[in-house]
Amino acid sequence: MNSKTHSTLSPITVTSPLLPDLGEFTELLQDIWQRKWLTNNGHYHKQLETALAEYLGVPYISLFTNGTLPLITALQALNLTQGEVITTPYSFVATTHALIWNGLTPVFADVDPVWGNLDPAAVEAAITDRTVAIMPVHVYGNPCDTEALQRIADKHGLKIIYDAAHAFGVKQNGRSILEAGDMSTLSFHATKVYNTVEGGALVCQTAEMKQHIDQLRNFGFTGETEVEAAGINSKMDEIRAAYGLLNLQQVDSAIATRERVAKTYRNALAGIPGIRCLQDIPGVQHNYAYFPIYVDAATYGRTRDELYFHLKEHGILARRYFYPVIPDFAAYANSLSARAAHIPNARALANSVICLPMHHELNRGNAMKILSIISIQ
Ligand SMILES: *Cc1c(COP(=O)(O)O)cnc(C)c1O
Repeated sequence: MNSKTHSTLSPITVTSPLLPDLGEFTELLQDIWQRKWLTNNGHYHKQLETALAEYLGVPYISLFTNGTLPLITALQALNLTQGEVITTPYSFVATTHALIWNGLTPVFADVDPVWGNLDPAAVEAAITDRTVAIMPVHVYGNPCDTEALQRIADKHGLKIIYDAAHAFGVKQNGRSILEAGDMSTLSFHATKVYNTVEGGALVCQTAEMKQHIDQLRNFGFTGETEVEAAGINSKMDEIRAAYGLLNLQQVDSAIATRERVAKTYRNALAGIPGIRCLQDIPGVQHNYAYFPIYVDAATYGRTRDELYFHLKEHGILARRYFYPVIPDFAAYANSLSARAAHIPNARALANSVICLPMHHELNRGNAMKILSIISIQ
C-alpha cells in the first residue's frame, strides 16, 4: 500500500502532559549545572514553593516527589498511626494505600450519586469510637461539601486530610479549596492538569506545621546531627522544580483550552439521551481536570463498556476512572471494612463512568470527532 493513501491516524489519548518550552528549560538546566546544587531545598525549589503558594492562594505548601508521599506524610505529621479513617471508595488507589502504609484501617463510606464525593451523612453514620480522621477526595476537582464535613469532624474531634490531587487551582467563592480541613495534598504527576513530571505537595495551615512537614520530608532531620522523627525522603530536586516553574507560566492557558473543550462536549451531549455529564458549580473556579460522562445503558442503547470499546476502535483512548471501586481491588479483599462496604452510589458511578479525553492539546475538531462517535448508536 502506498504511504500517501494509507495514513494511520494517531489515537486521541485521555490526557497529554503539559510540557515546558525545551529552549527555556535548557537555559534553566544550564543555570543548575553552574550552581551545582541539585536537591535539598535549592534555588529553584524555593522559587517554586513561593510561586505555587501565591498561584494557589495558600500560605504554607511543601513540595514532594509525588502525590502519594504527601498523603502518607500528612497522616504522620498529625500523629495518625492507629484507628479507623473514613474514606471514599471512588478514587485512585493511592488514597487508601496511604492509610495502609500508616497502619490505619480504611472504612469506606458511600459518595453522593451526582458528583461522586463523600456523602457527609454516610461519613457520620460510619463513625465509631475508633475513628480518628476523614480522608475525602475532591473527585475530578469538584469540591466536596467541606462545610458539612468540617461540622462532623469538629463534633467528633476528627482530623480531615483532603486528597486534592485533582483540585489544582480550584477555588470556591474566591478562596482556594486547599484551605479546607487540616491539610490538603496535590499531585503533579505527568497526567495531571499541572505537572512536574512526577511531583506533589502538602498544604497546611501554620508555619510550625510546615516546618514539621519539611523535616519529615527530609528523614526527620531537625538539625545537622539531630533526628526527631522517623521521616522519609521525598524531596523535590532542582531539575523538576525548574520544569515546574516553567509549566506554572502556561497552566492558565492550558486550563482555558480545557474549559473550551468542556463547553463543546456539554453542548453536544445535551442532545444525546442516556449520557449524563457534570456542569459547572456556581461560585466555583474549575480546572477541568477530567470530563466524566455516565452511561445509562437502557436509555443510550449501549452499555458503558460497549461505548468504551467502540471509542477505542475509533482511536479514542478514553478511561474508566474510577472503575472498579477501591474495595474491589484484590489488595483490599481481606479488609473487613471493604467486605462490609455498603456503597451503592459509588458502585453505580464506577459501573457507568467514562472519562473522555481532556487536555490542553485538544481542539473543537477533536471534540466533535469524539462526539460524533458517541452520538452514532
Ligand atoms: C494521581 C493521584 C494520586 C497519586 O499521585 P501520584 O503523584 O501519582 O503519586 C493520589 N490521589 C488521587 C486521587 C490521584 O488522582
